[in-house]
Amino acid sequence: MSWQQRIDNALTQRREADALRRRQPLARGAGRWLECDGQRYRNFSSNDYLGMSQHPAVIRAWQQGAEQYGVGSGGSGHVTGFSHAHRDLETDLAQWLGYPRALLFISGFAANQAVIAALMGEKDRIIADRLSHASLLEAAALSPAALRRFQHNDTPHLSRLLAASVEGLQLVVTEGVFSMDGDNAPLADVAEATAQAGAWLMVDDAHGIGVNGEQGRGSCWQQAVRPEVLVVTFGKAFGLSGAAVLCSESVADYLLQFARHLIYSTAMPPAQAVALRASLAVIRSDDGDERRGKLAQHIAHFREGAQGLDYQLTASESAIQPLIVGKNAPTLALAATLRQRGCWVTAIRPPTVPAGTARLRLTLTAAHEREDIENLLEVLHGVRE
Ligand SMILES: *Cc1c(COP(=O)(O)O)cnc(C)c1O
Repeated sequence: MSWQQRIDNALTQRREADALRRRQPLARGAGRWLECDGQRYRNFSSNDYLGMSQHPAVIRAWQQGAEQYGVGSGGSGHVTGFSHAHRDLETDLAQWLGYPRALLFISGFAANQAVIAALMGEKDRIIADRLSHASLLEAAALSPAALRRFQHNDTPHLSRLLAASVEGLQLVVTEGVFSMDGDNAPLADVAEATAQAGAWLMVDDAHGIGVNGEQGRGSCWQQAVRPEVLVVTFGKAFGLSGAAVLCSESVADYLLQFARHLIYSTAMPPAQAVALRASLAVIRSDDGDERRGKLAQHIAHFREGAQGLDYQLTASESAIQPLIVGKNAPTLALAATLRQRGCWVTAIRPPTVPAGTARLRLTLTAAHEREDIENLLEVLHGVRE
């Protein structure tokens, strides 16, 4: 088979399964409204859960950061790319979340890859929730360690896997809020099972940070759990992008030696670190509390109004409110109908979610108004008739 044939076959297979992915260039994609081809839609697809991507104080901070530092970091943090802005953000994050250290990464994907690659050796074992994000499972699959997956949120199953004999060390991996179902992990139980086995716990709280817990400190804080490695990302509630790993002094120093995504990659622009610090300040403030309160109202409103629809809701209490349709083609059709009626939603299909559970992944945000949720519910009930 030639290269061309291999590529054509793969594309044909995707097309025939109604699973071909495409991107769409948008005039605006985050916030209450999405703009595409001169049309405005209510946006139920972004991860901008607190509406921070459009916050004036954060925009201004980015502009001021660019004035002060220029637009790029100029290198890896190990060379010249680690500025006062990066250091100050790391200090704020560590203090906010109650860890000795925070290390910034360019993305959550990079942070997860880097941590797992740096920690795991040949005789070790990773035990991950089977619905963990692709960045975690892929890193685990690429690492020399063995990978076992436990049934979603099933702590007894986790304990059984932890009890199997292993030559090296074990790392348990889970999320605070799961990205495709929007449900929470039972972190206290997971942490207890992990500690009993003498293993370490890594929690990726991409969807919980900023939203859950007091001051938006996330799912671990909310459940009074302190994993050895906590990954938080800034592409969701923070409204920007990037990530941080929260850990002990020695783990931070270890990652600075062995995390290749830090060493061989340009640090985030200092202006972005300035903007992230401004976003964190809002998230911790009364403004942040108001945003979380508004989001909680939208979630309750949506779940109540979605009773009686033909589509299955998940056990989600989060901003992620999937409607599970099942097959790919009707899911795409439903997304298209909603779009015609002014609501922009994303259809998520296998292999991103398990086969037969294609869904609309609706996301709510504090940027929405009550009428947006009402409109969405009306349209959904209308489609049914
Ligand atoms: C979005 C997400 C990531 C990736 O983070 P980026 O900063 O977007 O690369 C990692 N883990 C989970 C659970 C996510 O939802």
